[in-house]
Amino acid sequence: MVRGRFAPSPSGRMHLGNLFCALLSFLSVKSRGGDWILRIEDLDTARCRPDYARQVEEDLRWLGLAWDQGGSAGGPDAPYFQSRRTAFYEEALGRLREMGLVYPCFCTRAQLHTASAPHREDGLTVYPGTCRGFSPEDIAAREAAGRKGALRLRVPEKSITFTDGHLGEVTEYLPTDCGDFLLRRSDGLFAYQLAVVVDDAAMGVTEVVRGADLLTSTPRQLLLYELLGLPAPEFFHFPLLLSPDGRRLSKRDGDLGLAALREKDSPEEVIGKLAYLAGQNPTAAPRTPGELIEHFRWDTVPRQDIPLPPGLF
Ligand SMILES: [Zn+2]
Repeated sequence: MVRGRFAPSPSGRMHLGNLFCALLSFLSVKSRGGDWILRIEDLDTARCRPDYARQVEEDLRWLGLAWDQGGSAGGPDAPYFQSRRTAFYEEALGRLREMGLVYPCFCTRAQLHTASAPHREDGLTVYPGTCRGFSPEDIAAREAAGRKGALRLRVPEKSITFTDGHLGEVTEYLPTDCGDFLLRRSDGLFAYQLAVVVDDAAMGVTEVVRGADLLTSTPRQLLLYELLGLPAPEFFHFPLLLSPDGRRLSKRDGDLGLAALREKDSPEEVIGKLAYLAGQNPTAAPRTPGELIEHFRWDTVPRQDIPLPPGLF
């Protein structure tokens, strides 16, 4: 059973970059005869809103990207809203705790961003292990003083290597390339890495298609799959769409958001142009998602970030 997913965060209206992800994940799994599910990643309740989640579903319907289960439709592993699934993350965290792999970190944001901390190419900071060796008394003293720790995973001294279905082999040496990473923030919010692993496994996801900005989080997730004894999916990372002036698209690019696109283009026009950028349509001519499934191939998807040609959208 092949199963893929689209997992947007409803913190605003979708933009072209989100649609690019939706289309590629849809075509990849449908070309293998699988199911495509929708999961709403709304753990950060301060930033996410239910009306944006409903809008995601409405925009996908407008585009003709029909999910097979999940979303408001539910399914055997429902709910597919992360905010309603915290009991599952709590359970996984408990198992990691029992293995002695979880410890509290009391570092402040300022401490974590000091110049001495190693920075990775992608801008993430590798945690230097400041709180790793605290004794139970050290921890109790901080907690008694009212400090609430975040929780980190103690990473083993080893490398993780995997072969991305599109970008090839990736290796990270966990202590220096990754560091002890967050499982839960000090405000109680579960980290993306833990939630996404628990959910993909519970929902039977066999392939994860997402932007190359998440490529470096994959070794952390593979480590969690291994520790929790869960089967890992295949990963396919695709290059990001850039604005014509070379910036990453964001929800602030209103003119490339769904509201603006829907005013000037038909769904087939939007899909045809995105498929063209994805190497799945010889021209930017209008297409329906269904027409693209049969001819989908990963080897014609670009491997470098894709600046939007001026005037295409
Ligand atoms: Zn710390």
